[in-house]
Amino acid sequence: MSDVIVEVRDLHKSFGALRVLKGIDMSVRKGEVVCVIGPSGSGKSTLLRCVNLLEEPNSGTVVVNGYELTDPDIDIDRARRGIGMVFQGFNLFGHLSVLENLTVAQRKVLKRDRAEADRIARENLAKVGLAEKERSMPAQLSGGQQQRVAIARALSMDPAVMLFDEPTSALDPELVGDVLAVMRQLAEEGMTMLVVTHEMQFAREVADKVLFMDDGIVVEQGPPAQVIGEPRQERTRSFLARVL
Ligand code: ADP
Ligand code: MG
Repeated sequence: MSDVIVEVRDLHKSFGALRVLKGIDMSVRKGEVVCVIGPSGSGKSTLLRCVNLLEEPNSGTVVVNGYELTDPDIDIDRARRGIGMVFQGFNLFGHLSVLENLTVAQRKVLKRDRAEADRIARENLAKVGLAEKERSMPAQLSGGQQQRVAIARALSMDPAVMLFDEPTSALDPELVGDVLAVMRQLAEEGMTMLVVTHEMQFAREVADKVLFMDDGIVVEQGPPAQVIGEPRQERTRSFLARVL
């Protein structure tokens, strides 16, 4: 159990009468990269949002980094601290410089002093290839650069796991590669990652495990060579035939 960072058991989530997650079981071990693929509307974002308690599950358990998020007595702010999240939109603070975007939560939430927060921010900006942009405002950056800043900002909080929800799908095609390269590097450094993506090549090359979701269930999961390379389920095959 000790090296399981994310554990989801029999997770159900509805919006009114709409049943979106119908009993999801999945886990991410320390250092693993798990990619979630599947058609639009299958519940991928809802799964990720339940793993971060942006959505409250109807039933089931979600344990992240030793915190049971579904326990009603959970200290949710503390539990969330271990979870880095990068969305499709970049969600940077538009009125703050790049450096300030990376330091504000470090100082407020982790109580780091300015010098330490700045040092950690600069380390992470260098890691995503944007050391020279610390004085820039978000609007002066390309979408791909903004997304790399968002990744660096999440990393600056020392997360136990990084969640990515289609981080490249709002980007112009020529900017996708730089963001994927940063994610690939993180994976190689051993970061634990749960990634919803349409980038099949990324999933194939970087994931330790791929989950194919359809209509609120995990239809098939396993190593990418199996799920993407030799899918067993007809639903997986027809999805892949549409996207590959
Ligand atoms: P995916 O990320 O796989 O495209 P989502 O998890 O975003 O799928 O959505 C799954 C289903 O849940 C969709 O039918 C979507 O319209 C619905 N849904 C998602 N969030 C909400 C919400 N906050 N309120 C009502 N319906 C929602
Ligand atoms: Mg989605």
